Amino acid sequence: MVHFVGAGPGAPDLITVRGAAHLAAADVVIYAGSLVNPALLARCKDGCEVYNSAAMTLPEVLAVMETAETAGKTVVRLHTGDPALYGAIREQIDALAAKGIHYDVTPGVSSLFGAAAALGAEFTLPGVSQSLIVTRLAGRTAVPEGEELRELARHGASMAIFLSAGMLDGVQAELLAGGISAETPAAIVYKATWPDEKTVRCTVGTLADAGAAEQITKTALVFVGGFLDAPYEKSKLYDPTFTTEYRRGSGGGEIAYLSFTERGRALAETLREALGGEASCTRDGVRLKDWTAAHFPSARALVYVGAAGIAVRAVAPHLVSKTSDPAVIAVDEGGRFAIPIASGHLGGANALAREIAKITDGVAAVTTATDVNGVFAVDDWARTQGCAVAHTEQIKAVSGKLLAGVPITVRSAYPIGGEPPEGVMLTESDAPDVWVDICPHDGLTVVPRTLTLGVGCRRGTTRETLETRFAAFCDAAGILPQAIAGAATIDLKANEPGLLAFCANHGWKLKTYSAAELSAVQGEFTASDFVAETTGVDNVCERAAVLASGGALLTRKFAGDGVTFALAERPTRLNWGEHNG
Ligand code: SAH
Repeated sequence: MVHFVGAGPGAPDLITVRGAAHLAAADVVIYAGSLVNPALLARCKDGCEVYNSAAMTLPEVLAVMETAETAGKTVVRLHTGDPALYGAIREQIDALAAKGIHYDVTPGVSSLFGAAAALGAEFTLPGVSQSLIVTRLAGRTAVPEGEELRELARHGASMAIFLSAGMLDGVQAELLAGGISAETPAAIVYKATWPDEKTVRCTVGTLADAGAAEQITKTALVFVGGFLDAPYEKSKLYDPTFTTEYRRGSGGGEIAYLSFTERGRALAETLREALGGEASCTRDGVRLKDWTAAHFPSARALVYVGAAGIAVRAVAPHLVSKTSDPAVIAVDEGGRFAIPIASGHLGGANALAREIAKITDGVAAVTTATDVNGVFAVDDWARTQGCAVAHTEQIKAVSGKLLAGVPITVRSAYPIGGEPPEGVMLTESDAPDVWVDICPHDGLTVVPRTLTLGVGCRRGTTRETLETRFAAFCDAAGILPQAIAGAATIDLKANEPGLLAFCANHGWKLKTYSAAELSAVQGEFTASDFVAETTGVDNVCERAAVLASGGALLTRKFAGDGVTFALAERPTRLNWGEHNG
């Protein structure tokens, strides 16, 4: 028996329950190694024979199946996404049928849907398009006459283009030749649902450039059509690497490496394999200036495998502040020294330089005073705890005390596990050196991101109105906006342009829930007949905040100008454990 199984788009928990059961029971597994996540093989039983079909021909695959069948073994043939799309299962099925070998097919989540989910997109928006064209650009495999991209483009339907990420120039040219305007929204989704998933929103006219800027050449889908349109275009709302004035995307941004020589390229590749991210080399025509401009806004760290001076000159025009700049590191191509150049603490450059030095068996040339002297660094600690920092201008004074051997005091509104590091004392005083709190203070404040903002708004509410009301709300509630980790509302507002722009501006993901889900939330909420009549649930903002946060209501409904806000807080505990020293 041969079971064809759809493995899903990448994330190992996106296989179906039935597919997982077949995999667990299989004696032999043949998986499409070029795209199937090998993490799925952890589901196989001990002793299962595993073959990677990436290196096999069709007759070889069939031979493995036939041998297994003769021995009475069960085979799983694992295909990426759903096997019915570009899966080449038909030729296998026909060959099995000819030999009288039984088979069945278990569907999977196609990357088509993994990618749509990454964008929060719906292909079939009423009034925009009610059809989806799934196709590919003619490449080494031709497409039948009449199915050329330019022909299909004429329909104006939503489009999903597979197998074409290496030919984005061609895709763009064909779409334009088919009469699609250059302004039509487009998106590229790279490795949907994998840890290194990337989403790029662009237009048909900028498709090739956008792909080149992100160096996407494979394992990506291209979407085209009005269904992608939204006033928050380019807001990268769903991009985990989204950076705001408050924070750099929490760990979502990748490390980007640039090398200048063959030796440097080899070192960059070693680092990339160990630490993840993406590596480029100027020998492939990548230009230092362009590369820096492209990666500075979104990468977690920029690693230049070359002279420190090159790195300094390249990033200088982009540096803004240690609270928002990415980590910048120079490593010599021999890997002897890893030099953190900017954002040592908040950006994590010191920690990353240490990791790099460990890999290259070199030295992390850390120069920040607190590290050199082995004393506690508030900003470093805040970063490890996932906290923001307010009044960063006072970091210097606090570090200065510690360096001079003077203890500092910390007053925390939240429990902190473990022993405080040397030189740090907890206090109840009203004038500590450091606050740990979500409320504003004059002094240096470490701000845990414990809050979820629940939002309700009238249709058509502008971003400006939301911002004004939000400022008033923070004031009234006495909280720092940095303490908010995300926003939540009812699904009716999932496409509300002003609300989406507001959330994007603050770097928040917007979670949405149905009226039924909101109604089911337990607790006492501020009920309104008007809200119940228009949305089907008696309160949106309080219920959404509580549901999304998994915690308790902190601030009740604050209403005005057609906007309502509420806050919920999840239980929070910090830890001293991870300070350096
Ligand atoms: N049967 C698969 C498609 C196999 S063809 C499915 O249903 O998804 C291989 C193509 O699928 C790739 O060239 C790419 O266009 C797309 N693809 C596969 N996995 C992807 C992923 N995780 N993210 C984006 N595109 C993906």
